[in-house]
Amino acid sequence: MTTVVLMGPPGAGKGTQAAVVAARLGIPHISTGDIFRANVSQGTPLGVEAKRYMDAGEYVPDSVTNAMVRDRLAEPDAAPGFLLDGYPRTVAQVEELAGILAEQGRSLEKVVELTVDVDEVVGRLTKRAAEQGRSDDTEEVIRRRLEVYFEQTAPLIDAYEGQGLLVKVDGMGSVEDVTARVLGALGV
Ligand code: AMP
Repeated sequence: MTTVVLMGPPGAGKGTQAAVVAARLGIPHISTGDIFRANVSQGTPLGVEAKRYMDAGEYVPDSVTNAMVRDRLAEPDAAPGFLLDGYPRTVAQVEELAGILAEQGRSLEKVVELTVDVDEVVGRLTKRAAEQGRSDDTEEVIRRRLEVYFEQTAPLIDAYEGQGLLVKVDGMGSVEDVTARVLGALGV
């Protein structure tokens, strides 16, 4: 069983790495951002609510996000393990995740933090905005997303370090090099 969280600031390459690493481990890649975006494009009530926050660079409320993750982690494909990307992002989400896993009789095994330099991150996000046309990738929103990350999510890294779960991985360099480092950190 592999229960892993991938963390790092917006633009650190979490989505790309999570997809490759999860495929390699044969576990689902669960991205809360992707689930929100799928709901936005399908126009579901969840999507309509989430979009207001996403477009402002703010976090979707914990109550909404936690309920969504609880349902997703109960799906049969997540029974052997999962790689969470973009969750947890707040202290309340850390507690919720621990609670959900405890109810399922399991716990988190590792938290991988991708470390990058912030100037590089802004460059990556601006490039992605041009390529994918994401409505939350304008320069103003990018700046807000980074602020929110450092205010609300960066503190979780210390908490996970305190629990002995954290491994830091250098997120700079080619996709292949970073993947190799992440797999190494996971002992694969
Ligand atoms: P991401 O693709 O992970 O960068 O997520 C895109 C956006 O979705 C974020 O900027 C938030 O608005 C929202 N989002 C994704 N995951 C979470 C989460 N765990 N908690 C709250 N909001 C989230």
